[in-house]
Amino acid sequence: MGEDCIFCKIATGRIPSTSVYSDEEFYAFHDIHPLAPTHVLLVPRKHIAKLTDAKPEDGALLGRLLLKANEIAAQEGLAENGFRLAINCGPWGGQVVLHLHVHILGGRPLADSLG
Ligand code: AMP
Ligand code: ZN
Repeated sequence: MGEDCIFCKIATGRIPSTSVYSDEEFYAFHDIHPLAPTHVLLVPRKHIAKLTDAKPEDGALLGRLLLKANEIAAQEGLAENGFRLAINCGPWGGQVVLHLHVHILGGRPLADSLG
């Protein structure tokens, strides 16, 4: 656990959030500044600061993370029309919060560009 990590605090309920999914391994909640009609953040409860800090032993967790994103997208009604997953990594990747998270974006057509 990162002691000063905002997403660790959100996942453990010490900072409020709008929960959309919770289990022993993952927590998902609405982004406070949504970029699309649906903008959910999915985090592993394990504190991994950024994708490049993931170790080989995190491989199964990363696989389950993607499957969970799929499940949450379906739960949020995004499966039929499609959606976007984004993982920002490091400063040039646009990562602001240093706790690995997947952005789940949908509810409108998203631009072709990733930039
Ligand atoms: P990133 O730029 O990939 O690190 O994304 C961090 C995301 O966290 C941004 O989209 C923020 O809007 C979102 N965020 C920051 N603080 C909170 C919070 N307290 N509750 C919900 N979302 C947050
Ligand atoms: Zn954390």
